[in-house]
Parts: sequence; structure tokens; C-alpha cells
Amino acid sequence: MSAPILQVKNLTTRFRTERGMVTAVDQVSFDVAPGETLAIVGESGSGKSVTALSILRLIPDPPGKIESGEILFDGQDLLKMSDAKIRSIRGNSIAMIFQEPMSSMNPALTVGMQIAEPINLHRRTPWNKALEMARGLLGKVQIPDPASRVTAYPHQFSGGMRQRGMIAMALACEPKLIIADEPTTALDVTVQAQILDLLKDLASNSNTALILITHDLGVVARYADRVAVMYGGRIIETAPARELYANPKHPYTRGLMASVPRIDGDTSRPLIPIEGQPPDLASLPDGCAFMPRCKQATEQCRTTKPSLRQVSEFHFKACLIDD
Ligand code: ADP
Ligand code: MG
Repeated sequence: MSAPILQVKNLTTRFRTERGMVTAVDQVSFDVAPGETLAIVGESGSGKSVTALSILRLIPDPPGKIESGEILFDGQDLLKMSDAKIRSIRGNSIAMIFQEPMSSMNPALTVGMQIAEPINLHRRTPWNKALEMARGLLGKVQIPDPASRVTAYPHQFSGGMRQRGMIAMALACEPKLIIADEPTTALDVTVQAQILDLLKDLASNSNTALILITHDLGVVARYADRVAVMYGGRIIETAPARELYANPKHPYTRGLMASVPRIDGDTSRPLIPIEGQPPDLASLPDGCAFMPRCKQATEQCRTTKPSLRQVSEFHFKACLIDD
């Protein structure tokens, strides 16, 4: 495996709210290498999107603030860069694909113009040439009849086509890293698989690192090389995808896996939902945030916040309990 293109170290992001300070991301560290797909998985509200937005410095301030940490991209700390420098990286060497393409596309511009714009801006490619490249990219993301679709507006595209358009926008400047935040959640299952297959193929063909954010363990199993499981703003377990599925170590990860249908289609085992509520990020406990829902919790879990510790070569868990 080559050296990581992105290294996130001890990232903490908080929001000032009416209910007090909310710690959305708490001491999160991970890295991703060229050509690798890292999945970040967790329930809604676990801090996945805030992690992604922090990387690109898109956290609205106020109410949000990146309190501490380092985000090294190609060795340079994104948190220390000037606004101009970070703008030259966004949509260029780091691209982001969001869940709802309608909200990240401009309804007043044709899809072709929106794909051509970053090429024109970041690569100083003449407009005509950039539009021609946009047409090529629409073909690459398998939009039929790209020559006429390049002049269509977003509302003339179906949901699946818009998401393909977003992938084309993301690929436009040949990024080194793509962050895809629940890119297919709004689409039906068949279209989801087509789009994720396409994204994964395009990323691995160009040796692009991919951070795939999802709440769907089926997506993780099919597309991720490595997985980081988030709970209450922290990474509570991380391992290569196969290892995590074969050998989940954290009680939360085990609970998650027991609560969704098995990827091998085995329906003999009943689905068991995790009881209890996700933690309140405005008043996190001193100890383990999963403790109130954990059947194995001990007295120590109430008082000691577990950090990630190694359980096997590439496998880490933040849990005090030994198996
Ligand atoms: P998810 O894992 O579903 O992507 P998010 O990262 O979006 O979760 O959010 C994590 C938590 O951060 C939310 O539950 C919320 O408490 C807090 N949060 C996110 N964005 C804001 C905001 N703009 N203002 C206040 N709190 C926010
Ligand atoms: Mg989210």
C-alpha cells in the first residue's frame, strides 16, 4: 500500500447551539491511500458529514468550529492553508459528492456548464475545450446521448442521472481524493448499485482515493477496502472490510451487524435492533458513549473513555472490554 494521500489526526469539531456545545467530531484520526476506498459508517448523527465537511473546511463558522487536529493532504495541513489555497483544492484535487445533487447543482446552469466550470477555473482550459471535456465526462459516467445532454438543465435529469452528473463534476479535474457523502441514499436500490459500481470503477482505474460515507453496511461490504465505524462523534472501530465483517470486535459494530440483513442473504438469523437511543452530543458521558446501550458494560465503562487500541495487525477498537 502506498503512502496515504490524506491523514486526519485528532480532529475535533464543535458547534455552539442553544443547548450548549455539541461535540460532533471528537478526536478522530484516520488515513486513506491512493486507490483505496475507506468507508465511514455509523448511524445518523454520528458525525460522518461533519468529518467530511471539516476536511474541506466547509463547516459553517459560526456556529461550528474545527477546534483542533491536523488534516494532512499530500503532506500539507489543510487547516493551516489560506482561504485562497483551500479554494484551489476544493473541487480540484479533492472533490466531494453529496447526497442530494439538486442542492449542490445550480438549477440555472446547464449540466455541461457546471462540469466545465471547474475545468475552466482550475485548469485554465478554454471554455469551448472545457465543454467538450464535459461531454466526454458525461459519456464516461454512462449518460446516454451526452452530446445533447450536455446542454440540458439539472431538472431535466432523473435523480440517477443527476448523481451521475455529480460524479462527472467530481471527476472533472482528476482529483486525488473523492469524498462521497451518502451519494446514493436518495436513489432506489438498483440505481444505487449502478452508481456505486461506476464510482468505484472510475476511482480505482485512476488510483483515486475514495472516502465513502454511508449508514448502509451492505454498501460497506461491497465497496470498501477499509472501514471506520463512528459512534457519538468518535471512531470506535476500524479494520480492513473483510476483517471487520468476519470479526467485529466492538459491541456497537456487532449490534449494527445483527440489526441488518446479512449480505450473503442468509435469512435464518433474526434481525435484532440495537436498543436505546444514540448519544446526546451536547452532553456526552465521561465514559464510553455506547455504555448506556451496551449489554457488556462494566462499572469502568461509566468513568473511562476508551481510546482506540490494537486488537490485531490492522484492527483497532475503542472498547475497554476484552473478548
Ligand atoms: P451524520 O453522521 O448523520 O452525517 P452529522 O455529521 O451531519 O451526522 O452531524 C453530527 C452532529 O453534529 C449532529 O447530530 C448535530 O448535533 C451536529 N451538527 C451538525 N451540523 C450542525 C450545525 N450546522 N449546527 C449545529 N449542530 C450541527
Ligand atoms: Mg450525514
